[in-house]
Amino acid sequence: MRKLVIFCDFDGTITNKDNIISLMKEFAPPEYLPIKENILSQKQSIRDGVKEMFALLPVSLKDQITSFLLEQAQIRDGFAEFVSYTKERNIPLYIVSGGIDFFIHPILEPFGPFADVYCNESDFSGDNIHIHFPHGCDELCTSKGCGCCKPSIIRQLLDDNALSVVIGDSITDLEAAKLADVVIARDFLIEKCEELHIRYEPFKSFHDVIQIIDEKLGVPQ
Ligand code: MG
Ligand code: ZN
Repeated sequence: MRKLVIFCDFDGTITNKDNIISLMKEFAPPEYLPIKENILSQKQSIRDGVKEMFALLPVSLKDQITSFLLEQAQIRDGFAEFVSYTKERNIPLYIVSGGIDFFIHPILEPFGPFADVYCNESDFSGDNIHIHFPHGCDELCTSKGCGCCKPSIIRQLLDDNALSVVIGDSITDLEAAKLADVVIARDFLIEKCEELHIRYEPFKSFHDVIQIIDEKLGVPQ
């Protein structure tokens, strides 16, 4: 049987809302809005857009932003059970996120450890927040501006007989969804999958995700 490997998005997937959008709404000047729209409509790369949005924020906001996100971030139902489910079955669970280290690590801390966590990195040494992208696009990525390039990470980690599962909610998961054997989607990722005729399974909670994966593993309900 093929070995299952799961790649799970963070913002809007593990958390109910997108943390970057929440923090921009709260702390950024309105200049972030056209950048956000351009990212969603694919007029601007995710990498450049995220970099520009964070550059609107002074580093002095770091502690305020972090405690704001830790307080308001809600974890999607069933996530803790889902993590235990993968651990019991020795299914590697990778978190692959276009979000930023300074809020992802503390929010995920009570649930880990995971097979690994891939995300973008923040630098607070200048006047404004600077974002680094340590997991950039490989030569096979057709998009080239992913920021945290999910398809490149999947190619790096997956061996030939593995069955890849991608769980996500938005535009940052699209390139990974094109590559995955199984796509578990919600929200905007559903729209994009429909548009591009990519097969997907819809989910609302991680209880749904467990059920979908059980079916893929051939576990009787
Ligand atoms: Mg997301
Ligand atoms: Zn890429």
